[in-house]
Amino acid sequence: MTITLAVANQKGGVAKTTSVASIGAALAELGQKVLLVDLDPQACLTFSLGIDPEDLELSVHQVLTKGVDVEAVILETEDGVDLLPATIDLARAEADLLTRTGREHAIKAALEGVVDYDWVLLDCPPSLGVLTVAALTAADGVLIPLQCETLSHRGVGQLLDTVHDVRRFTNKGLEVWGVLPTLYDGRTTHARMVLDTIAETYDLDVIEPPIPKTIKFAEAPAAGRSILATARSSKGAKAYREVAANLVARGKAGPPIR
Ligand code: ADP
Ligand code: MG
Repeated sequence: MTITLAVANQKGGVAKTTSVASIGAALAELGQKVLLVDLDPQACLTFSLGIDPEDLELSVHQVLTKGVDVEAVILETEDGVDLLPATIDLARAEADLLTRTGREHAIKAALEGVVDYDWVLLDCPPSLGVLTVAALTAADGVLIPLQCETLSHRGVGQLLDTVHDVRRFTNKGLEVWGVLPTLYDGRTTHARMVLDTIAETYDLDVIEPPIPKTIKFAEAPAAGRSILATARSSKGAKAYREVAANLVARGKAGPPIR
């Protein structure tokens, strides 16, 4: 069975892309078969996995808007995960899909043909537009990366409103798996306080452990590999491995009883 997770937060720079690449590589290390989907026209995920979007003729854009078969577009990467890449073409997808019937289901329909993965991780763009809604519609669960700073809760309510709409209209089974604390400065009690406040205010689970802020992350994308390869034993890589193991455990346990 495939578990599809959308990694979403309409705020930019909260480590959505870094988390998708790192959790994906960590799941692959655990022997899981993983597909990562780049849904951001900036194509940062594609680039950070060593693929130059400018070299690509086909991308997720043609899959979503032209009905190109997903298998024809998926690439293998050195990190042991497969990738459905993005190019700047995807910037047109919002407009192209806006007038299309069933646009919320575009990603779900595109992924219907891919069955041999344990995990599909969707790297959402920094907005609550068509692509994010389509990603939430295709997902079993959503992970919300969150930088634990004073104003980081602004927007969480809006994201959760979108999740509720998706549950009502397009994907009844969508579960919020929780917030993933990123860029976490464990030396301050402030970060933990902000995290606890947000989790309590919105009744959200916290995915442990928090991902520490470390300079190693800045170096990984340029190398075309995730931090799991470029800084194997860094505390950031270790944290992402633990998160991946916890996700596998959660996946095995099935949906939480409410
Ligand atoms: P998003 O996809 O949410 O916009 P990114 O994953 O692109 O965010 O991360 C934004 C920036 O923060 C990138 O330059 C990335 O290298 C950096 N970054 C991500 N996680 C960490 C971390 N734990 N420590 C330090 N820098 C990080
Ligand atoms: Mg991103």
